[in-house]
Parts: sequence; C-alpha cells; structure tokens
Amino acid sequence: MKFNPPQEVHLDAILPDEPLLLMGAGPVPIPHAVARANTVVINHVGETMNRVIAGLKRMSKYVFQTESDKIIGVAGSASAAMEMAVTNLLWPGRSALVLANGTFSARFGEMAQAVGADTRILRNKEVTSLIPMEEIEAAFAQKHYDVLTIAQGETSCGVHNHHLREVAKLAKKHGALVIVDAVCTLSAMPLSMDEWGLDVVVTGGQKGLSSIPGVSLLAFSEAAWTQIESRQTPCPHWVLDALKAQRFWGEKQYHYTAPVSGILALYEALRLICQETLEARFQRHTLSSKALQAGIEAMGLSLFVPEKNRLNSVVAINSPRPGKIDLADVRDKMVKRFKVEIAGAFGLDILRIGQMGEQCRASNLFKTLYALGMSFNMCGLDLDLGAGMASLENNLAIDLENYVD
Ligand SMILES: *Cc1c(COP(=O)(O)O)cnc(C)c1O
Repeated sequence: MKFNPPQEVHLDAILPDEPLLLMGAGPVPIPHAVARANTVVINHVGETMNRVIAGLKRMSKYVFQTESDKIIGVAGSASAAMEMAVTNLLWPGRSALVLANGTFSARFGEMAQAVGADTRILRNKEVTSLIPMEEIEAAFAQKHYDVLTIAQGETSCGVHNHHLREVAKLAKKHGALVIVDAVCTLSAMPLSMDEWGLDVVVTGGQKGLSSIPGVSLLAFSEAAWTQIESRQTPCPHWVLDALKAQRFWGEKQYHYTAPVSGILALYEALRLICQETLEARFQRHTLSSKALQAGIEAMGLSLFVPEKNRLNSVVAINSPRPGKIDLADVRDKMVKRFKVEIAGAFGLDILRIGQMGEQCRASNLFKTLYALGMSFNMCGLDLDLGAGMASLENNLAIDLENYVD
C-alpha cells in the first residue's frame, strides 16, 4: 500500500480537560437534554422518526409563530438553510434586493448572484447603522424585485435590524417575498412570521435555539411555497431542493438520510423552549443582555453599537485602546486562565460576547464578565472589576420575581 495509517493521539489528548465556556457568537452551550439526545442514533425513517418530526414541526410552528406547515430541516449549517431559501426562490430571470449591513446579510447577496438572479445589494453607510427605509423605498420605486433579503440580527457587528417589520411591510406592498435570517435571534427576541408577513425564516441550530451545529430549520409561507412549486426549471441543488426535502419533512418518505442525532437534539432544544415559553425566554434574554451591557460599561469599557441599533443577542465591545492593545491577547487569557471563550470580529477591533440561549444564565454571565475584566487588567488596563460585577448582579436580580437563574 502506498499510504501508511497515521497514528493520531486519542481525542482526549486534544480536547481541554475542562470544556471551555462558549460565550462567543456561536456555537453556544447546550442543555444536558440536548447533549443526551445527540448521542442517540435511530432509523431515519419509520414510526419513531415520524413521531419526532411531527412533534418537531408543531414546536417549530410555535417558535416561528406561524401556521404554515412548510417547516423544513436541513442537514447543514445555517448557511445551508440560507442557501435553501435563496436557491429555491431565485434563478436566472428572477431578481433580489439584498439589505447587506454585515457579513451574514451580505452572504445572501453572494448566494443570489451565484444562482444567477439579478441582484441589487444595498449597503449601510456605517458599520453600526441600518439601511434607511427611504433607500429601500427608492430601490422598489425603480424596479420590481421578486425577493428581499434581510438579517434580523447581524451577528458580525452586533446590529439589530429593528425595522424588519416595516421593511417586510414595504416589500409586501411591492410584491416581493421576504427572506429573513433569524439565525442569532429566533427564540432570543420576538419574531412573528405570520403577523409580520415574513415568507421564509431561516435559523441554525447552534445559536438562539441552543442545539448543536449542523442541523438547521426554515419555515416557508404559503406564498413562498406556491412560487417554489411554480418553478419551470429544476432546482440546481439536489440536497437543498425544498420540494424534495418536503418528501421527508411533509410526507414521511426518504429524501436523503436525515441527520438523526441532530434532529433529536433539535427536538429537545425546541421542547425546552416550549416549556420555558417564548415570553419568559425573551425576558431572560433581555435581562441577561442588559445586565451584561451594564456590567461591561460599569467596568470602564464602552459598547460598539449605539443603544437604539444594539442587538441583545450578541454584544460588541470597543477596544479600550484602539490599535494599542491586541484583543487577541485578551481572548487568549480568557481561554487559558479562565476557560471562557468569546469572539473577536471579522476585521473590526472589537470583542463580541454571545447572549443566545444557554449563554444567558447567571453563572455564565458572572464567569464571563469576571474573566473579561481580569484578562484586560492582566493586559495592563485598570478596569473597575468590582463595579462591573456589582452592576451585573444588580441588573440580573431586578427583584425576587424577575431574575435570571
Ligand atoms: C452564524 C450566523 C450565520 C451562519 O451560520 P453558520 O451555521 O455558520 O452557517 C448566518 N447568519 C447569522 C445572523 C449568524 O449569526
């Protein structure tokens, strides 16, 4: 034989003794029930799987706030789900208006161009600003678009596109379908698919839902589905073909071997969300994120995004000495000394702390803020750690009824 088998070390020798606390922009920590479900393999078709899928769809309808039965799972990351949305609704001869105010929302633009759609990309003026309604109106006034794409939360810079509902209304008025990336926001902040007139809502497993990466979910409106069904040319992606995927997700038949363990994990993640209720979950996220933000500021750091555009599910922090302190050193100390991992950013001198799902737990927030302040101080800053921790504590426990556990 030409190649010899490499003798690699046992995985235990690679993984840290104690798992790092994942407080970056995803993946996020998963609840025990989700981790346990992820160890199980069952047949991908048959009675057991049918019951799992039926329950998973009922729970998804609640989480997406939709009556639509077109709930489809994807074996793939959230980007694969974005690609399913784009590739099933756009093709040569169709057109897309892409609102790009960061890495993820811009990804829709790349995908739309790749499938041959006539694509117009609107960009924001500053990294922390939204694309103004007037610009979107002007674009629609010039031309008809079949589809508009937008991210509810732009994870890359921590910006909340809080005009989503208004944008969707405008798009509807002009006959465009609305595709929404809700990867970092679904179940972390309000989104009502039907009420807001959204046509496709995309999410991943490993962020707001607190499941594992690799299995994603989308919901399609009836209007979107009708357009998918009316397509005259074959969908160029066999795996991502929504009509083929509906064989499995709607008709209990084989499409491709579903990622069974990931689906079971997602089932448990959704079950926990339903048990908590969306209202309680939104409140937990809001309280957690506001408390963390207050703690960060009380310590002497500043936040990157002005409050009105600030996303609560991912908090971006300015460098206290832009260009003078290497934020990678701070993150490195957080990992090595405190076993907490947070995120840097693509090309921006900021840090990002995730506030999605299980990240929003009191113990995680305390550990993270302590690690952040200590690590900055070890890098030569003089942050007021005590003031930061006190502020976090006061804001987490507003009263004996409203607190984060
Ligand atoms: C993480 C993220 C994505 C991409 O998810 P992957 O699972 O990495 O493909 C897309 N959009 C948003 C808003 C995200 O936060």
